[in-house]
Amino acid sequence: MNSLMLNTDGVQIPQLGYGVWQVAADEAEQAVRTALEIGYRHVDTAAAYGNEEGVGRAVLGSGLPRERVFVTTKLWNSDHGRAEEAFDESLSRLGLDHIDLFLMHWPVPEQDKYVQAWKAMEKIYRDGRARAIGVSNFTVGALTRLMNEAGITPSINQIELHPYFQQREMREFHEANGILTEAWSPLGQGKGLLDDPALTVLSEKHGRTPAQIVLRWHLQLGHVVIPKSVTPSRMGENFDVFGFILDTEDMAAIGAMNRNRRIGPDPDTFN
Ligand code: NAD
Repeated sequence: MNSLMLNTDGVQIPQLGYGVWQVAADEAEQAVRTALEIGYRHVDTAAAYGNEEGVGRAVLGSGLPRERVFVTTKLWNSDHGRAEEAFDESLSRLGLDHIDLFLMHWPVPEQDKYVQAWKAMEKIYRDGRARAIGVSNFTVGALTRLMNEAGITPSINQIELHPYFQQREMREFHEANGILTEAWSPLGQGKGLLDDPALTVLSEKHGRTPAQIVLRWHLQLGHVVIPKSVTPSRMGENFDVFGFILDTEDMAAIGAMNRNRRIGPDPDTFN
């Protein structure tokens, strides 16, 4: 399993993780247990997903040493003014004594508390309770302000990113500033994108499914990816993406699929 180095001293993140948005609270433990059995070693949850308890139970019950599983959770929008308390609540729901990566879920510019929240997250990081801290859904403007007003550069920015919404400007900004790009909805939520004829061609060429082609594209661009499925066969398929390589032409064909079309909310207005 490939890992990438975060800008935080020596911390590595498995490049392929398992996302659990919209996995029901009573399904999460089983889903994450299956993911860990398949070989995933990185789980992406959030306070807002309502399933941290199940995620924590699966991690603790897996028999794997804690340091072998990378756990991410996120600070919700209404908690920007109480980030430390919210972090402790997440930790307690997860049943863990530290988190590998703590992300601010959205900047919520209208609320204008993200610098304050980030400073609290820096403290959590300095105290060793999160091994790394980062953000999600930050724009170039919000990231620039954070870097100007705070002490620590976010290790990662988790953003909507898939072949229909390729976010070139964000990716270049991240690269220039030593921030890893993490793709949410890496499969464009499945329907539509995975039926695109351009992916069918590549799927036939490589004898791989469209989902595997898309995940491979992300990996080769250096993105962290966190595809979600609760179907064990698809979870296995999404994990089996290290045994083939897309060539320059294949990468360009996917590069040409960009439609600049978001599925999710716009970070400048989402609250
Ligand atoms: P995704 O792109 O991972 O798509 C998931 C959907 O694609 C599944 O529900 C299923 O319908 C389909 N699918 C999955 N594997 C497939 C396969 N092999 N073949 C065919 N169809 C398949 O979308 P997502 O769940 O929105 O995003 C993944 C993760 O990203 C989430 O679980 C969550 O952890 C994270 N996320 C974060 C934010 C954020 O604001 N930070 C927002 C959305 C999602």
